[in-house]
Amino acid sequence: MRPSIPSASFSALVVSVGLGLTVPAIPAAAAPVAPAALNHMLALAHQYGSRAAFVFDLDETTVDSSPRRYEAMLDAIDEACTRAPVKHPDCAALRYIKLDDLYRLRNRYDDLTYLRHYGAKDEAFVEAVAKRAFDIYLSGRYIVDKDRLYPGASLFLRRLKKEGALVYFVSSRSIERQGTNTLRFLSDHGVLRPGEDSLVYLKPDVEASPDFKRRATKEIADRVANRGGRVFGIFENEPENLEIWMENLPRALPFFMVGAYQHEGPVAKRAVILQDFRLN
Ligand SMILES: [Mg+2]
Repeated sequence: MRPSIPSASFSALVVSVGLGLTVPAIPAAAAPVAPAALNHMLALAHQYGSRAAFVFDLDETTVDSSPRRYEAMLDAIDEACTRAPVKHPDCAALRYIKLDDLYRLRNRYDDLTYLRHYGAKDEAFVEAVAKRAFDIYLSGRYIVDKDRLYPGASLFLRRLKKEGALVYFVSSRSIERQGTNTLRFLSDHGVLRPGEDSLVYLKPDVEASPDFKRRATKEIADRVANRGGRVFGIFENEPENLEIWMENLPRALPFFMVGAYQHEGPVAKRAVILQDFRLN
């Protein structure tokens, strides 16, 4: 029989694991080392089974979507340069863009800086290429064959699920355009099983992203509470979104994935900073 979930704050918890092994609680304010905090989540999943829940954002948190972003850029440049009747002077500069340079950006969503970096000078042209690339990126194309899970994510997610924990995904990807391929990607990587589609929250095109993230996490909070469970960990790469999640799931430990974020807001002080999901 699983023990009841204590009402004490996370920092007061001490978790018993398996054969009497005791895992010390992670002090919420002490910026714990990421692998220790991830292992702590696994210990909680082991202890609480199906009453433990975790919420993950997808792009740039669980999924490295930069290769998809790069392919979208190549397609947009191809359309604008190779297929256009008159070649724009900036096409020569954009002929050999590199995926590696995308990873060097401070903000990996900053397509304009990326394109200017190669010497493209016509702002209207750069903006048109970037806009077209973003449309392709959000179209559903390349999700299945170019997206990849961050290092350690596959094992970490599968271990949580093996303990019976509920793993939710909340992403502002479009249900209409990216839904089918997103579900296929998660299934292909073994982190979504048949019958679990309702654990994936994607955004309807009509809804604004912050509103969607607020609604989705509220729904998850209610669903988990209704079954007597608790969300122990939330994982995001955008500071503003993490704040929204923390409002709706105040007892969960927040994890912030560094590397790529669209906005420059401050990161919640009590968040655990992650670079990947490796456990040691
Ligand atoms: Mg994200």
